[in-house]
Amino acid sequence: MRIKLPLAGALLASAALAAQHVVIVTVDGLAAYHLLNQQLLMPNIRDLIDNGVWAESSQTVFPSVTHPSHTTILTGVEPRLHGVLGNGMVNRNTGERFHPTNRPRKDIVMVPTLFDAAKAKGLRTAAFYWPETKDDPSIDFNIPEVFNDANAADIRAVPPEVLRELRDAGVPIDNFFRWYGGPRAGAGDLILADAAAHAIRAHKPNLIAIHLVSTDGAQHGYGPHHYLSQSAITLADECIGTIRRALDVAGIASDAAIVVTADHGFHSVYENANVWPAFASAGLAGKVKLHGAGWSVAVELAAAFRPADQPALDAAFTQLKQAGLVVRVAGPDDMHALGQPRYEESDYAAGHYLLIPGIDLHLVVEPDNPSMKRRPKPVPYHGHGYLPHHPRMFPALVLSGAGIRRGAIVGHVRNLDIAPTVAHLLDLELGPTSGRVLREALTDK
Ligand SMILES: [Zn+2]
Repeated sequence: MRIKLPLAGALLASAALAAQHVVIVTVDGLAAYHLLNQQLLMPNIRDLIDNGVWAESSQTVFPSVTHPSHTTILTGVEPRLHGVLGNGMVNRNTGERFHPTNRPRKDIVMVPTLFDAAKAKGLRTAAFYWPETKDDPSIDFNIPEVFNDANAADIRAVPPEVLRELRDAGVPIDNFFRWYGGPRAGAGDLILADAAAHAIRAHKPNLIAIHLVSTDGAQHGYGPHHYLSQSAITLADECIGTIRRALDVAGIASDAAIVVTADHGFHSVYENANVWPAFASAGLAGKVKLHGAGWSVAVELAAAFRPADQPALDAAFTQLKQAGLVVRVAGPDDMHALGQPRYEESDYAAGHYLLIPGIDLHLVVEPDNPSMKRRPKPVPYHGHGYLPHHPRMFPALVLSGAGIRRGAIVGHVRNLDIAPTVAHLLDLELGPTSGRVLREALTDK
């Protein structure tokens, strides 16, 4: 929130002109640790770092997955407040399942976004495959991330005039949709970057957000350190080069700031362990329901659970901890600190408690299996979703250009801080956020 003081007014007004344009690029799954790998070819990102600011570490939200995180980047608040609680949402009462990105943005994102704030100021806006932007009235030029019944990118969600303009300009945008999720997904990202470059040259938007996706698929498929994942990151870097060249050609590069970040990191898991015997031996069969698997299992207290059963529940938790399977049990009073609603606050909260293992283990629920022994997974898992405080989940964050200091390193920040920082650069009124302006990264402090 900017305080209007007569004397400071002139200074603040000049600070407000720090950037006329901000481009937010997410490279899906680009971990902070990737930036430390000097063998990774990322000439554009390294040049942005050399001439800008990078964060030693950044922190995403819980769960550390694509959609809650992207909406936090755009709003500056945690999932509990913006409403995108997961990549998929299940209403525990009705059983209804949906993907939040397939809902109109106004029906799913409960707070103002940077796009709303930019539009309120009369600025021009554009988004390229950014989550939760379907039918967003605050985005002038929009290729929303929406899935069709086959779980592929849905071209029907793109306004016809946007498709027409891109086709007329020679951007083969149809191939982005054809190649999404397949072996040519990287080439699809290059086309998406071409679309953004066209919009930059033709419309000079003040706020642009682009979500490059193929780095996520590669890392899920092969792990974050595989050469094909590294190659996907190099290709995302080339997409950033395309955008930088467009800013140059449009004559707005010196007025533009670029934010390169991600929604989460990545980690590989090779072992499973079954948690059910701890509940069975505590006499809780029929009194608790366990939902999910992997890096968190939700414990829902069933109708048959009585206050007198609480010691048995605590005993089950203790047994899981002593067996080394669970490192943390998040209870009702921990949910807000995790950025999630309590059970009674949301039909989309699966349980009263969350069981969380160490990052090298996945939990499974197998009522017919009496063993809690750790065992190898049938296939290794490469992914994300773990507690955001763990360094393996930290996303990369680089800021560079207009209004940004040159050659500086900042410490640990959060992706909650990106929206207030971008709002500050463009002098937008975003409203209350849970983050802070990253003043240590800015020339005007
Ligand atoms: Zn992601």
